[in-house]
Amino acid sequence: MNALKDRLIARIARLGPLSVADYMTECLLHPTDGYYTTRDPLGRAGDFITAPEISQMFGELLGLWLAQVWMDQGAPSPFVLAELGPGRGTLMTDALRATRVVPGFHAAMRLHLVEASPKLRAVQGDRLAAYAPVFADGLADLPAGPLFLIANEFFDALPIRQFQRQAGGDWSERMIGTDGESLIWGLSPPAPIAALATLGDIAAGQIVETCAPAEALAGEIGRRIATQGGGALIIDYGARDSRGDTFQALAAHAHVDPLAAPGQADLTAHVAFGPIAQAALPARASAICPQGVFLERIGMTPRAEKLARSLGGAALQSHIAAHKRLTHPDEMGHLFKVLALTPEGSPLPPALDPGPP
Ligand code: SAH
Repeated sequence: MNALKDRLIARIARLGPLSVADYMTECLLHPTDGYYTTRDPLGRAGDFITAPEISQMFGELLGLWLAQVWMDQGAPSPFVLAELGPGRGTLMTDALRATRVVPGFHAAMRLHLVEASPKLRAVQGDRLAAYAPVFADGLADLPAGPLFLIANEFFDALPIRQFQRQAGGDWSERMIGTDGESLIWGLSPPAPIAALATLGDIAAGQIVETCAPAEALAGEIGRRIATQGGGALIIDYGARDSRGDTFQALAAHAHVDPLAAPGQADLTAHVAFGPIAQAALPARASAICPQGVFLERIGMTPRAEKLARSLGGAALQSHIAAHKRLTHPDEMGHLFKVLALTPEGSPLPPALDPGPP
């Protein structure tokens, strides 16, 4: 029994196939049957685990990085501290604990959380109650003023479309149709697509992905930061460009068929950072940096050693494993990338090279 699947099959039979973007939106955010609307998917007992859930060091170091960018811009007061998709609120809890030592930071900070899931809003509201967070549906809801923003594993949940190059150079969109009982893959008739026309290096049969909502969001963030000051730190798995099929479904920490059980698995795609940096103009984009390099540059090893002094036995082993998991190139260190946006003319953000990506 899967009510969402039945409804999607009925809808496709009536109105025709869905793009991957339409499918992702329905599966992730449907008001009653969506993946994020109905559960807390994070942690060992859930479907996936994220960096802040692996170690407190992640949120601590990111919080101190943001506070440094705030100080570099003259410590504006008040300022908006915003997180996109805060999950269980762990990253922000750790960031705010670490920044208690930064003079004036907490007094000037107004905390705003952009979150679609009522379930996760409740968790975040509990964990961060001391900071009186204000919930928002999107960037447009945030008050004016300097904006310091963080987004970890948020952009990967934004709906993508997939296009496959055809022999003549035109593109077919990968669509989701039905045989009456199951959801099945199909291709739209080939057509030219202006936005993809410049991609000369894609062979026939290859797939590229586009994410218009990510670019629109980056544009909003970039315009705000360029005109009102602030900085954004975007972290996710991906690369500069989109190449190949990266659409994936995770349930209980394993890859599953994304069409098998709509609303029951997390659906994501790799983030293409190049188009995000481009869309964020006139804000200045940093070069894209692998997460492991970034975390080491902002002091993860000294922080890890300090924490290790009070640990022993299994707790020490798991602390060492967490450090490795976040930074080692074979684990999250290379696949995950970091991109910063700051105003043109402001000091360069700590630990990141100047762009273009
Ligand atoms: N940043 C957290 C959680 C990542 S999971 C961490 O690192 O642990 C993705 C988060 O984004 C969840 O909180 C999810 O509910 C939220 N989310 C996904 N799509 C969203 C959208 N379109 N609008 C607002 N929040 C969204």
